[in-house]
Amino acid sequence: MKFRKVLVSFCCVLSLMSVLKTFASKKQDPRPNILVILCDDLGYADVGFNGSPDIITPEMDKLAKNGVVFTSAYVAHSFCGPSRAALMTGRYPHQVGTPFNLHSNSSENDADNMGVPVKEMFMSEVLQKAGYYTSALGKWHLGAAPKFHPNKRGFDNFYGFLGGGHNYFPSVYQKQYANQVKSGVKVIRDYIQPLEHNNKEIKETEYITDALSREAVNDIHTACKKKKPFFMYLAYNAPHVPLEAKKEDMEVFSHIQDKNRRTYAGMVYAVDRGVGKIVAALKETKQLDNTVIIFLSDNGGNFDHGANNDPLKGTKGDSWEGGYRVPMFVHWPSKIKGGKQFDYPVSALDFYPTFVALANTKVPENKVLAGKNIMDAVLANTDVHKDEMLYSLRYRHGFSEVGARKGDWKVTRMGNEPWLLFNITKDKGEKQNLGGRYPERLKAMVKETENWTKTFIHPLWYYSAKDEELWEAGKMPQFEETFEVSKLIKKASKN
Ligand code: CA
Repeated sequence: MKFRKVLVSFCCVLSLMSVLKTFASKKQDPRPNILVILCDDLGYADVGFNGSPDIITPEMDKLAKNGVVFTSAYVAHSFCGPSRAALMTGRYPHQVGTPFNLHSNSSENDADNMGVPVKEMFMSEVLQKAGYYTSALGKWHLGAAPKFHPNKRGFDNFYGFLGGGHNYFPSVYQKQYANQVKSGVKVIRDYIQPLEHNNKEIKETEYITDALSREAVNDIHTACKKKKPFFMYLAYNAPHVPLEAKKEDMEVFSHIQDKNRRTYAGMVYAVDRGVGKIVAALKETKQLDNTVIIFLSDNGGNFDHGANNDPLKGTKGDSWEGGYRVPMFVHWPSKIKGGKQFDYPVSALDFYPTFVALANTKVPENKVLAGKNIMDAVLANTDVHKDEMLYSLRYRHGFSEVGARKGDWKVTRMGNEPWLLFNITKDKGEKQNLGGRYPERLKAMVKETENWTKTFIHPLWYYSAKDEELWEAGKMPQFEETFEVSKLIKKASKN
């Protein structure tokens, strides 16, 4: 009896110690969870919180309303791969050798140089080393060879696909894949290949957007059991092509006549449903208050596939605002009071230093970052990039397209056309060229942009054989012509 009493007391002490330990560890680790929800090719005007006239996103809107909406959020490139490389490395894609997309054929992507160089430490690795539980869900597109795999780049958990996109209905694409395997097709497009979970092939059964939301919910529960803060990179491939939506999601948008637009709307709605489930999981685990949720798109919407970037000009791939200015909000109840709008420019390049600060850790030695920690500026509503340029540059055949913004001003060179200058605060649609009125301002901004290109390195790969041929022949990137303004400014002044 006495022994039993002692045992009971001993167990009580043990459980009390365990409670105290948990309390202490929680107390010692007040760092927030970080959840990045990235959409693919989502238009500026295709979410309720940016005033979409025909697409509803009630779950995102609730978060946006209780957080801060960014009206001038930029990504570092106007299409997928380079934009994601910038987000992960904190550097412009041209500075790490990755200004082109990877191919859609996985066998060609297995080559050793086809991925963002491992010497560029991803922010996931920094957070993992700082004690975060890290997971990447969805689209990768940063290298398919083993050394570039998410599990090797700072993610404890990966569920998704390594390529640049994916079909959405497993019952359809799995049949196509099986048929191609059966017929001996050597290079099978990665859009129909099986999904994977930490290098293990998975037979997914759900519509892909729902599958990724499900995995996010599961992972929030997993993270909580680990009693560590988590970093989750949830990279939906929606609403990127192929345009494939669930019937019930399309029915929500029966008022939209155009079938592409209706399908696209259904795809966005599926993401929104997922956001609702994720928020419910964060509430259930009591993590919502101390989770920094950042929602954005990897580049602008594509006009040809149902997107709308109003009131911005241009489409995915452009250096007009519509190519690389994206919908974005941040939600963090324990620090950010809701109902705010942040109009100063910010960049996805800012995430790296911002997350490093949130995790109370350090930027790796010798790492040169292009962005800044924005959290204090967001809280104080001040311009963190005052007197600094934010750039977009895309190589085209025969010329380079450029956008560069500093404060209220932006210089743009689109197509093989003259340089233009806009007051981008007043003229979001880039309609009124002021280059003729302020030639010195235009010249100075172009010069500063040209200086920025001196930090670039040679591309590590090309998207097409044509790109490589032109580059090797000295016809890309043609910066001398791109930044030659003396003739072009005269033309601009006629406007
Ligand atoms: Ca994209």
